[in-house]
Formats: sequence, structure tokens, C-alpha cells
Amino acid sequence: MIFGACNTSLYASVRGVEPDAPVLSGAARQGGMLHGQTGQYRYVYKIGDEKIRVSHDKIFVVGLGRDEPAELKLLFCKFGLPGRCDTFTYAIEQRTYPTQNLTVADAMVRYAPEIQKRVDSDAAAVSAARRKAADDNATHFMDLSLSDILARHRISTVFGAARNYNNGARFSSHNGIDIAAPTGTQVHSIGRGTVIYADDNYLSGNMVIVSHGRGVTSVYAHMDKIMVAVGDTVDNKTVVGMVGNTGRSTGPHLHLGASIMHGGRVIQLDPLLLMN
Ligand SMILES: [Zn+2]
Repeated sequence: MIFGACNTSLYASVRGVEPDAPVLSGAARQGGMLHGQTGQYRYVYKIGDEKIRVSHDKIFVVGLGRDEPAELKLLFCKFGLPGRCDTFTYAIEQRTYPTQNLTVADAMVRYAPEIQKRVDSDAAAVSAARRKAADDNATHFMDLSLSDILARHRISTVFGAARNYNNGARFSSHNGIDIAAPTGTQVHSIGRGTVIYADDNYLSGNMVIVSHGRGVTSVYAHMDKIMVAVGDTVDNKTVVGMVGNTGRSTGPHLHLGASIMHGGRVIQLDPLLLMN
């Protein structure tokens, strides 16, 4: 399924169902992210899930997964559980996702033992980088913008697409957006942040991950070249790499992903919904 570049932002002020619910900002849609201030409360819990990190400035961020239920219930507490708490409900827009059938080299879906080792060690390195980013207190995640590349090139695969590789050999859901662009096209960071990962990855090819604060990261994968190093400070004028066809890829494109860490868990987000 193919969509043209779209600049209509779904980012808005989000009101809760209850009239006194704190007003949040962001896209109240599966794959989106909401942030706000706790105000009179000290703690926030996502019901049925985990405690949400609240920093000294009372800012908190909630990631909405691909399959997030239609009602997001947040428990706001003044003194922690079981102190004085109030539950507020936010309506989350539900989406439907397309299905894609893809054919790639067999070694990319049926891993030989040494490849499985490589895939596991890549995943461990990415997780370690993400865990460190969870302590990044920056608030750049509130000011992300569509990178240049989206204005000039089309989206070839949307966030959340269900993928069937090599006739059922492996299934996954697409945890970002793909932008079809020629090899060598410059890739800019979607906002200010710090590079936390820049390496060759078996499945994702040459990949860069940027931390934008409070566990929110953006991911740039399958690149031909990486132009930054871990620890670099970047903004949306920084070229993090060049479009390529490395890793498990069927043609030159940029895979642009985003995620947030809640506790030890990574929630994949739709980068299009994070743009202010
Ligand atoms: Zn992709």
C-alpha cells in the first residue's frame, strides 16, 4: 500500500473523558505518544501496565502501542499507591493495518545458528543503548519535525503493516515507516538529540539511533553509510547517514522508526505521529 508524503499533523491537545482529567499533548492514536504534566499529582500509572516515569519537572510521556486499546486509563496518585489516586480515561483512535507479502533471501528469515547468534547480539546491543537513553532527561521529543526526505519521497510501507516473509517463513509487524529514496540520499535526524547507537546490524543494516529524551528514540536503518558516531549531538540539520539497501531490505529505502521505553519494555511508535 502506498501513501504520498503527508504534512497533516495529528498532534493536538488531548482532553480526557472526565472533565477534570489533565490535558495531554500529542496524537491520541495507536502508535502515537502523549505527554503532559502531573500537576497536583506525583505518580502516574498506566492501568494494566507499568508505572510511568515522572521526572522532577513533573513531565511524563506515555507511548501508545500498535495495538493499544481504545481506552487509555491513567491512574494519577498524590502519594503513590495506595494513596489518594484518581483514574482518568483518554480515547485512543484505533487503526487498521495492511498486510504485505515479502520475499527476501532465505538466510534473512531462517537463521543458521551463527546468524541467530549475530541477531541476538545485535538486539542486546540495541537494548543496552535504549536502557541508557531511558535516563536522558532532555525534552527534545516535544519538538520533532518531518525530515527533508519525507517532503521529497514517498512512503512505501506504513507503520504497523503485518508482514509475511517468504510465504509464511516468518511474520512480523512493521515497526516504523519506509521511505523509498535512491541510495545516497541524505538522511537527517528528526530532531535534537544524542546518538546512542551507530553500527552495522544483520537485519537493520547500517543503523543509527538518536535519543530525544525520556526514553524516546528515533531509528534510521538500512543505510548505505553512517555519518555520525555514538555520543554525537545532532539536530534536524545533521546528516546521520545516506539511504541504502543494507540488512533485510528489498530495495533502497530509509526505515524510520521511533520508540519509547516503559520500564524495561520498548513500545514501537509511528514516527509520523510524533511530529509537532
Ligand atoms: Zn521498514
